[in-house]
Parts: sequence; C-alpha cells; structure tokens
Amino acid sequence: MMNQIAYLDNAATTQLDPKVLESMIPYMGEYYGNPSSIYSLGRQSRLAIESARKQVAEMLGVKATSIYFTSGGTESNNTAILSSINELGCTHIITSPIEHHAVLHTIEHYCKQKQLSCSLVKLNTMGEVDLLDLENQLIAYTKQGHKCLVSLMHANNEIGVLLEIEAVGIIARNHGAIFHSDCVQTIGHYPINLIDYGVHFASASGHKFHGPKGTGILYVSDGTKFGALIHGGSQERKKRAGTENVHGIIGFTQALALAMDNFSPDHSHIKSLNKRMRFGLEKLSKDISFNSTEMSLYTVLSVNFPAGTNTDLMLALMDNKGICASGGSACSSGEDEGSHVITALKKNLPGATIRFSFSKMTSEKDIDFTLESISSMLSPQFVS
Ligand code: PLP
Repeated sequence: MMNQIAYLDNAATTQLDPKVLESMIPYMGEYYGNPSSIYSLGRQSRLAIESARKQVAEMLGVKATSIYFTSGGTESNNTAILSSINELGCTHIITSPIEHHAVLHTIEHYCKQKQLSCSLVKLNTMGEVDLLDLENQLIAYTKQGHKCLVSLMHANNEIGVLLEIEAVGIIARNHGAIFHSDCVQTIGHYPINLIDYGVHFASASGHKFHGPKGTGILYVSDGTKFGALIHGGSQERKKRAGTENVHGIIGFTQALALAMDNFSPDHSHIKSLNKRMRFGLEKLSKDISFNSTEMSLYTVLSVNFPAGTNTDLMLALMDNKGICASGGSACSSGEDEGSHVITALKKNLPGATIRFSFSKMTSEKDIDFTLESISSMLSPQFVS
C-alpha cells in the first residue's frame, strides 16, 4: 500500500463516500431479502428500491416510472441504443467521434449486425458540436425516409467539452428524431432537470460521483417505448431482468443525494482546484496548452504537454510518487494505441496529453504536490 495518494483521475472513477458506504451496509447484512419475495423481509428490500427510485426521480425532475436501475453507464447506453433501433424503428444514427466507447462500439456493433447507417456530426477543434451540421444531417436523412437516433454525450470524459444539450433536444424533436445522451459525467456533477433537456434516454453511473461501481440508471422519457437488453425475470418492470443490486441502488441514491445537497460548496472547491492546476501549469511552461476551457466540465483538465515530453514516462514517474492521472481515458488505457478523442479534435499538436480530474476529495496539497513533481519532470528547455 502506498502511503499517500494524490488521486487526480476522478473522471475514471471516484472514491466511495464513507456516508454512501454507511447507507449500503444494512442492505448487505440485516436486510438481505430478495425484493421479489412476498414476505416482509423481501418487502423491506422492495420498499427500499422503490423509495430510492422516487428519490432519484425527484432529484432529476422526472417521474419515478422513468427511472430504471442498471449496472452502470455502459449497460444504460447499450439499452438506449438497442431500444431506439428495435422498439422505436431508428434506421440511421447520428453521433460524434468523441463519444465514449460504450456508445461508439455499441453503435458500430448494431449498425453492422442490422445493416443500419451512421454518420458523425462535425466538431470544432474544442470538440463542440456544430448544431447547424446536426440539423442539416437530420433534414437530409429524414428526407431519405430514415428515422434518426441522435446519440451525443452531455460532457466528454477526456476533455470535458459540454454539449448544448437543450438545443440538441429541440433540434432532435423538431425533426422527429430520438435523442439519447450519455450523461455519465454530468449526472451527479450538476443539478439537472432531464425534462428541460428534451432527451428520450439518458444514462448515469454511480461510481463517477462517489457511489458504488456497477450501479447506474437509464432514464426513459414518459411515453417512450423501450425494450430489455437483459432477459429473464420481471424485475424493473420486465425491462431489466436479474435480482436487483439492492445495496448498490441504495448507494447510488445516497451518492446522488449527497452530490445534490452539497453541489454549491463542492462545485466551488473543485473549480478552484482546476484553476490552481491550470495556472500552476501555465507558470511551469508557456508551451503547455489545454483541451479544456473555463466553460468545460469543471472536474476535468486535459493538458497538452510540449513536443519532446514523454508523457508515458511522466505518468509512470507520477505513479511512483503516488499521483494518479490518466493519459486520455482510463477506460481504454492499456488497450488502445491512443485516444480517439484527442485524434478526432485534429489539433495536430506535437506533444501528448494527460488528463487530470478532480473531486470533492481532492485537496490543494494534491495539486501543489503534482505541480512540483511535474516541474521536476519537464525538460529544462520547456520550463519558463
Ligand atoms: N460513458 C462515459 C462518458 C464514461 O466516462 C464512462 C466511464 O468511464 C462510461 C460511459 C461507462 O460507465 P460505466 O463504467 O458505469 O459502465
């Protein structure tokens, strides 16, 4: 075990909040009944799930019947995309090249399997969606007789660029399209009213906001038909079979409640850490640039280091000092060559990128220690 960890990879996952753990423990011990059992021990678990669903729905401004508990962002994204094809008849999918692989690979899989078409919306070099291009594509594909699914993430996990989600919701609905948004990096990070967003489907994941791993929700707007990805028993109103992860559902709900209750102080704390890191890096070298702006998701700072900096070595040296950061998306590190997100931005920067991401549990000390460590790793020619 390392003594001290400066954990700056909160977009990959976050540490479980002790209060969340506390809320889960009774449902891992005392209240172990199967929610489908009709005796009181089972009914206790059922009651806990249904009151959690109600609480989650209230926090997101929607009806309890719109919330389905899942195993996380990946499953929710898969369910939304498959349902849009199978139940809602979408034959063309418009997405972006910077979506998470839980969206991109799912679309790729079903487009191949079901011989559907797919197109990518134009982005600028900051990763922002060109809304005019989206609208033109919707007009063109609808004219060809397609029903379209628009799948665009609310915030990108690698660079933090935010989608103008309400505007996309209006455009999609104006053209009779289905709109799915991967909100894994925003639900639990902003006060959100899903009705205002105009989404048909939205995905969230508990472990991104100090909840347990393997928990999430799929929001399905009122009146939107959808089908199961996982078949079996009649849990989750026959839309998601399998004995419910009761303690996980309780943990997810408690984590969301804590995030919403403390949004204001947590947001200012995290935003100030993000600025501290950015200013500190700017001071270290004028050749460092950023893929995130002041307008981006406040938990993420994506940094381009100058040409000649060996970021793999930097990450390894940081790891030795107990600093956790990611060379792109942690979800894919070790498997892929490079980041598909950074590649899609077409910035043609000579150096490489490191993502730092922060949470309420990050301290100024973590930032200062990391900056100090980076300064000793940068080649002297880059240090101003
Ligand atoms: N979507 C985004 C934007 C993510 O960042 C992640 C996780 O990194 C996922 C989906 C997958 O979520 P989960 O780990 O809950 O399956």
